[in-house]
Amino acid sequence: MSGNTLGVLGSDVKVGLPDGTKIAYANLDYAASAPCLREVADVVGELLPLYASVHRGAGALSQLCTEKYELARASVTAFLGCRVDDEVVFTRNTTDALNLLAHAVPPDTVVITFEGEHHANLLPWKEVVRLPAPSSPAAAVSAVTTALAGQTTERPILLAVTGASNVTGEVWPLADLAATAHRFGARIAVDAAQLAPHRRIDIAALDLDYVAFSGHKLYAPFGTGVLAGRADWLDRARPYLSGGGATAHVGDTPGEVDWAVGAARHEAGSPNVIGAVALAAACDALAAADLDTLRADEDALMNRLHDGLAGIPEVRILGAGDSWPDRLGIVSFTVDGVETRTVSTRLAAEFGIGVRDGLFCAHPFTRRLLDQAGATAPTAVRASIGVGTTTEHIDRLVTGIRTIAGSRVPADPAVRVGHYDG
Ligand code: PMP
Repeated sequence: MSGNTLGVLGSDVKVGLPDGTKIAYANLDYAASAPCLREVADVVGELLPLYASVHRGAGALSQLCTEKYELARASVTAFLGCRVDDEVVFTRNTTDALNLLAHAVPPDTVVITFEGEHHANLLPWKEVVRLPAPSSPAAAVSAVTTALAGQTTERPILLAVTGASNVTGEVWPLADLAATAHRFGARIAVDAAQLAPHRRIDIAALDLDYVAFSGHKLYAPFGTGVLAGRADWLDRARPYLSGGGATAHVGDTPGEVDWAVGAARHEAGSPNVIGAVALAAACDALAAADLDTLRADEDALMNRLHDGLAGIPEVRILGAGDSWPDRLGIVSFTVDGVETRTVSTRLAAEFGIGVRDGLFCAHPFTRRLLDQAGATAPTAVRASIGVGTTTEHIDRLVTGIRTIAGSRVPADPAVRVGHYDG
């Protein structure tokens, strides 16, 4: 990509092709896990020789690590534009963060969500109303308005929505949804697993109540996520995990315990300091990057990918298309007459391309999209992009799909597949 100084590790990894040559691996699976930013690797590399216990150690390295852990929290706080009294809890990933929130909401909370959610935002809730997936951002706002207007309960209501779909890349109208939720006295939680790496999220400006995301989709390694937002429900809930670090005082008799308030209440056990520092380094790097350029680069690649695939007669692209104008670089599709798993394995074996296939942990939504697209395949292929994706990756994918589809569309002679050695 041009214009940005961000770079990722792994762009020089080569994989073998059937003819014995090697080709640079084209990772087009960023929506599952994105490669590590160089900035993140540098920060982690500096900390590895120094890490020690946090919070309770008196030694110099313990103090350093405690400071780094809390500075990591400050970076996330700044990255998300949190309000001063918001809590930022480190979790294992988005799934963990949303399960923590489901655990922390008042026990009689009614949750309203959509069929288009990832399972992580579909399954943790105890009492949930699931609205049909909307066909446009305006339809999403109107469905929420109708659902909230129809609620007669005095119980707390939480609207739990995605920031951007992991199947279609469609970006949700968060400010409008938050305003609607608040107009009816409800709160809003956003699953930002896909949105956070690609768009600036400002909790205060968007007036969101909770945001969850994962480090491994934000160009940091696995094992760390975040739940950020309003402190009251979190501070009143029983700790998510019971154990050391979550307590203010433990008495001599069983059950005699005062739990901590603040993030520590839900972070019992030794924290993943390296993971938190890595995630924070990714937040810092993205916050310092020119997001307009990054987005312009991604949009150009996304359009190239979309147009290339749309030009292949056998390809069916899933999603609402132009009625959902704001989309991240994620395209899910099927190829008529070719099993989805065959498409992805041939892309890997013959073209050195990594994509994902399946129902993307959004089973009800992806099944509906397949149906709407008239696809005969029961699953889809997903290609997704980010920092480090190049036009060559996109062109290679389009050529690969064209070849696999057996389309009569002539191949682009400018794209050399199988002899690339960059
Ligand atoms: N929500 C969305 C929209 C996602 O794309 C994902 C990951 N595919 C998740 C939640 C879950 O993230 P994690 O696996 O990091 O918990």
